Amino acid sequence: MHKSGFLLNVEDSVLEGASQLNLNSVLVSSENISPQTTSQIKEKLGQVEIYASVIVFAGKDLLEKYPDAKAVDSNDKDTISDPLIGICPTHPGVRKNRLEEIKRVLENDVQGVWLNHMRYPTSWESANPDILDTCYCERCLKMFEEYIGEPIAGVGGEGTALQNIALHIDGSYYHEWLEFKAGQVVSFVEEAKALIAASGKEIKLGMFIVPWKDKDYGAGIQRVVAQDFSKLIPLIDIFSPGLFHKMLGKDVSWIGEMVEYYWQLGKAFLPLIQSVNEGGEISTEEFKQSLENAIKSPSMGVCVYHLEDLIKQSQKYEVFRQFS
Ligand SMILES: [Zn+2]
Repeated sequence: MHKSGFLLNVEDSVLEGASQLNLNSVLVSSENISPQTTSQIKEKLGQVEIYASVIVFAGKDLLEKYPDAKAVDSNDKDTISDPLIGICPTHPGVRKNRLEEIKRVLENDVQGVWLNHMRYPTSWESANPDILDTCYCERCLKMFEEYIGEPIAGVGGEGTALQNIALHIDGSYYHEWLEFKAGQVVSFVEEAKALIAASGKEIKLGMFIVPWKDKDYGAGIQRVVAQDFSKLIPLIDIFSPGLFHKMLGKDVSWIGEMVEYYWQLGKAFLPLIQSVNEGGEISTEEFKQSLENAIKSPSMGVCVYHLEDLIKQSQKYEVFRQFS
């Protein structure tokens, strides 16, 4: 069983606690990856593998740097309401910036790169998420016209101009739109994989995935976030679904159901579970059950989100310490 934890910050006090957990790996936000932090982690945790979580299509920094990268929703919903800062996946500057970040990370002592927000933006981490439908920015629409080889403008209707365009695409080019969106995600993953290959190092390519089944939210996994597993399976080594049951208003048994569901991927996956009391209080017993459900076959193990929080909750910490 692969035992892992997410480290928000690399600090000695947290590493001290983490060192007692017998972890196989830690996931670390890429902005905290440096020669200094990686040696700090290895010094405290021994032979642990370090997986860098690289945020791709999200974040305030990217929006400040590239204001025209703001994702556009078909109903003009706000795509940059904190904490979600939705970034358009076709923006060339963003894509280059994120690939450079991966390149930088690969120069460090890491054993994995985990692509985070490797998808079109939406909120999903609550019981009733406000689902976005993106991206209908001018650049995306122009690229889509080129993709299908004909113009899509000039369609009338009762809604706003953008709503009419989105309706038209949905009615006449549903399949093409899904393929186009999936292509933006897949082509980035391919480029990330090429960088790993060029590094000459043995580095795993992981990806965080939205824990939706294929029919949830009107086929949202493809239609909304464009995580098309049929295309991603050949590229990704390990998928990491965020099985944050409390945040999503689910029973702890849901974690086991999702683990079973991912059997169909036929690919290694390392689910994340929450230690944080978000969406409600998680008792120590419930936390234990969530660990047990997360590691059911064919899951490769479990990653606790997140270690800073876990270490503050002594009973849950003790459960995870003894968990093997
Ligand atoms: Zn766009």
